Amino acid sequence: MSDIAKPRILIIYTGGTIGMIENPETRSLEPFDFTHLIDNVPKIKMLEYDIDNIQFTPIDSSDMGPEGWAEIATAIADHYDEYDGFVVLHGTDTMAYTASALSFMLQDLSKPVIITGSQLPIGEVRTDGEENLITALQIAAATTPAGAPMVQEVAILFENYLWRGNRSTKMSADNFNAFKSNNYPGLARIGLGIHFDEAALRRVTTDPKRLRLHTRMDRDVMFLDLNPGFTQSTMQHLLATPGIKGIVMRTYGAGNAPTDTWFLEAIRRTVDRGVVIVNVSQCVNGGVHARRYAAGDLLTRCGVISGRDMTSEAAITKLMYLFGLGLTPHQVRSLIGTDLCGEITI
Ligand code: ASP
Repeated sequence: MSDIAKPRILIIYTGGTIGMIENPETRSLEPFDFTHLIDNVPKIKMLEYDIDNIQFTPIDSSDMGPEGWAEIATAIADHYDEYDGFVVLHGTDTMAYTASALSFMLQDLSKPVIITGSQLPIGEVRTDGEENLITALQIAAATTPAGAPMVQEVAILFENYLWRGNRSTKMSADNFNAFKSNNYPGLARIGLGIHFDEAALRRVTTDPKRLRLHTRMDRDVMFLDLNPGFTQSTMQHLLATPGIKGIVMRTYGAGNAPTDTWFLEAIRRTVDRGVVIVNVSQCVNGGVHARRYAAGDLLTRCGVISGRDMTSEAAITKLMYLFGLGLTPHQVRSLIGTDLCGEITI
């Protein structure tokens, strides 16, 4: 293969277990630098790719948030024309939030942004990190027979599957297959080969060069997770959170919530105040069918919007993104239920 034909891939290292090392005193895993990570994957040199990297201060992904997402998205946008694909190394704990946030921040993305990490540090004998990193690089370099990037979206590669980023959820703290997209098919199955499901892959229709970067995320959003026995005072306290603009309400089953008058009145008053409330299900599979049960229909009548089959991670980052664009509550209400980048089934 000539040099010109070599795929060019940029690795962005943000931290996570994949690059961690055990602190000999506390015996806890701590983020470590990129050189250590790459030294542990000598097989990378066997790939005929031109690989560059950017290292951020490595963190446990529990510390990841809007600033970190903006840094990653900006790095991708700044180097967009120089590379065929991007691999983001990230902790698994908040990987699904980062994948969702990046999908909104990188509008009209037409190149692969493959996020991966591992359950065991790369230095451990049984690590899943080496395989995940190599496969992520191969996916980032994969092309269609016509020479276009095979993946043109933000995706999570973990063990045997490639999932759409804004459809993914971390399902296991222990298994190597840690992620799943419960409401959308896998984009690829990884076995002896990498088998892409071309019907599931996102295809952008705009001019491929027109990446639009949006890095402002509004933090004035929160989850409201229902549980049986939820009290009126808890509800009042949470809904009165100063400055709150958007709430993702995690309800039961097909989008149902208590039918108590105090509960519905509190919701109605909050919506009337201009707060956007989105209904998503606590079930990981399926979604909100607002009119199936009277208990769900009452929420709709109070002005709560159905998040349909969006993940909690996609719903909360979508609210951050839409308010971050400076839109009015009315505009956010009309966009939250529309498909921006494959995150919702209409
Ligand atoms: N706590 C780690 C992180 O999210 C877990 C992992 O990477 O798997 O950074």
